[in-house]
Amino acid sequence: MEKVIILGTGCAGLTAAIYAARANLTPLVLEGAEPGGQLSTTTLVENYPGFKDGVMGPELIMQMKAQAERFGARFQYAECTGLKRGEKHVSVEVEGKWIDTSSLIVASGASAKWLGLDRERELRGHGLTSCATCDGAFYRNVPVCVVGGGDSAAEEATFLTRFASKVYLIHRRDTLRASKVMIQRVLDNPKVEPVWNSALTEYLTDDEGHMRAVKLKNLVTGVESELEMKCVFVAIGHTPNTAPFKGILDLDENGYLLQQPGSTATNIPGVFAAGDVSDHRYRQAVTASGQGCAAALDAERYLADIGVH
Ligand code: NAP
Repeated sequence: MEKVIILGTGCAGLTAAIYAARANLTPLVLEGAEPGGQLSTTTLVENYPGFKDGVMGPELIMQMKAQAERFGARFQYAECTGLKRGEKHVSVEVEGKWIDTSSLIVASGASAKWLGLDRERELRGHGLTSCATCDGAFYRNVPVCVVGGGDSAAEEATFLTRFASKVYLIHRRDTLRASKVMIQRVLDNPKVEPVWNSALTEYLTDDEGHMRAVKLKNLVTGVESELEMKCVFVAIGHTPNTAPFKGILDLDENGYLLQQPGSTATNIPGVFAAGDVSDHRYRQAVTASGQGCAAALDAERYLADIGVH
């Protein structure tokens, strides 16, 4: 019987691991399908407190992992594929075997959706990103584009006007699905130029492999064109990694884990949620870390209450 299993090694999972390990709970941490989470695919992180000159995303993750290991956290490259509720424990399915644990912290994150175009993986961090808050400030006085028509796209496009000379908002239809206030804000901004009924079909790079332009196809007329820009911000939604928990843990209508008000507790005693798997609002490395800390403290108190030390 484990005391604490932590699912995920992004900022939430690793911070939970540091706290649980320092509480002598020797947590077992499962790395999941995307070890290191979203930070492991970004470049410079300038908004994580404590790093005056910024820190590379993968470096930050490596440091957090080493910090957790130093206090006794155990890591395993494996994915949780199922969850069962027991009497005073839960069981997680890992590589076909069930492991019992007195408490569980789900920090399995959310994965940004991508367009599925060629070279998408290699271009990430080189003019292709899904996070305006993280990368917007690198693109000052140059044109950029945002793909999508929801609240995320509207919010990111508005945010990017602080830096970019022009923000093209590329959407596959001619109406945005974002909320009215966000639509008005984004379309009223003189730096934003909507590109309606258009699909981005190809990323075009310069000799150094950086984004130079994109190829577009008008979905009404079929006409193809090129648009010059330095960065593509894909904002077509995120998918929370909650598939193994459906029907067991309470999810909201978009599949995010629901927490009890004022806590990281889920609907099952001893199971806690932290980071992007339950947060579609802030989605920041530092807020995920904060939630990971809270989940570890909640788990520690829960274990003390049920007499597990
Ligand atoms: P979303 O509402 O699901 O919107 C995704 C957008 O991307 C849609 O406009 C969709 O087009 C487009 N899209 C999806 N797949 C595409 C593809 N393969 N190619 C091109 N376009 C594609 O996602 P979201 O904007 O991330 O928002 C998710 C949730 O978080 C929503 O409930 C939203 O209200 C909430 N949110 C709220 C705030 C806020 O209140 N401040 C900020 C961000 C997000 P179609 O419109 O044609 O389907």
